[in-house]
Amino acid sequence: MQRLIITMDGPAGSGKSTVARQLAARLGVEFLDTGAMYRGLTALCVDQGVDPEAEPSQAAALAADAHLHFDWSQDPPRLYVNDRDVNHRLRDTDVTSRVSALASIGEVRKVLVAAQQRIGEAHPRLVTEGRDQGSVVFPNACVKFYLDAEPPVRARRRADQLRALGREANEADILDQLVQRDERDAARKTGPLTCPEDAHKLDTTNMTLDAVVDYCEQYVRQQVDPEVGCVRSAGGASGGAT
Ligand code: C5P
Repeated sequence: MQRLIITMDGPAGSGKSTVARQLAARLGVEFLDTGAMYRGLTALCVDQGVDPEAEPSQAAALAADAHLHFDWSQDPPRLYVNDRDVNHRLRDTDVTSRVSALASIGEVRKVLVAAQQRIGEAHPRLVTEGRDQGSVVFPNACVKFYLDAEPPVRARRRADQLRALGREANEADILDQLVQRDERDAARKTGPLTCPEDAHKLDTTNMTLDAVVDYCEQYVRQQVDPEVGCVRSAGGASGGAT
């Protein structure tokens, strides 16, 4: 079967993780959460006492030596860092508050971009979500989406997600952190948060989750037959599976 890489980029709380995951299920393809990879490496740094902001070269060295691995038999695929299940750490405040600092380190991005491109080779039918998937990691992706929503709506969604996980959530604090994270993600030199020119941009402020997934599914089916795949090559490096 032909490859079918669909990218979904956008700021925090735009709904891209949930939408990407449900879209992948509807299309019968796999789902990659690249934010989890940045969060997993941030958890590794924090747990080893390395502050990515103050000690970027130590953080980059940890990232370069780390072994990231997804268990693709789980839905969503479960992330292991150096064989440790880090999923319970990914949404913790100490990780969320440092992840943008780690993601702004060029050497860290190099490591994760290469890992994501290897995943794209090993799992060539994929909806992949992040900040740079359509712009840097898979520039030749078959269909590219960029999801956005007004900041207060994004903060409310994040708060709802955290509450659903049984965590406390203060919407005003989340809004502050989210705006800071967006600014940082958009300002960095390598792989900034950006809407690729050839991406389909969707403002989800007034849309329900189901409406967004319906819209994206229809859009993909208009562009390409998911059973057949995409004739454009999806870009990325060659190499072994991750
Ligand atoms: O999407 P999520 O909120 O889990 O992403 C966490 C952080 O990881 C983002 O704020 C961003 O700094 C970083 N990230 C990135 N590039 C990606 C995915 C996430 O820089 N492709």
